[in-house]
Amino acid sequence: MSDWKLPWSASCLCGRVKMRVTAPPLVSMACHCRGCQKLTSGPYSLSLLLPAAAFEKLEGETELGGLHREASTHHFCAYCKNWLYTTNIGGGQFVNFRPAMLEDARWVVPYVESYVSEKLPQVVSGAKHSFAEFPPVEAYPELMAGFAREGCRPG
Ligand SMILES: [Zn+2]
Ligand SMILES: [Zn+2]
Repeated sequence: MSDWKLPWSASCLCGRVKMRVTAPPLVSMACHCRGCQKLTSGPYSLSLLLPAAAFEKLEGETELGGLHREASTHHFCAYCKNWLYTTNIGGGQFVNFRPAMLEDARWVVPYVESYVSEKLPQVVSGAKHSFAEFPPVEAYPELMAGFAREGCRPG
């Protein structure tokens, strides 16, 4: 689909890690959980859920960080320690990519927000669908269909 303007180039804060996205995201999400607040040092994490095959790390060294879990493995730039992406989502089928790394991230709006039960006061993400915790697994097909239909697109 031409309106996605793929592929997208991305890099970490210091520029040592370069990444590329080659296929459309399945959904855009903001997570307000306490874990994401601490990981980002901010009010929430912003992510694009990608099919694992749509994401490539082209160059630069990453290291694992966060809670060093088997599932939801957090990758950081080895030099600037920027949080870049999360692998081992859904048994390795997906990568959760942090769209702030995109060369142009100005079009990214979360379609879904999770853990609004832990949201900081006055924070507004702009998401269309809000969940107290994570959306139930059975809600994802409809959320992904909605994002494909009416989600954000590169400007
Ligand atoms: Zn870096
Ligand atoms: Zn979270």
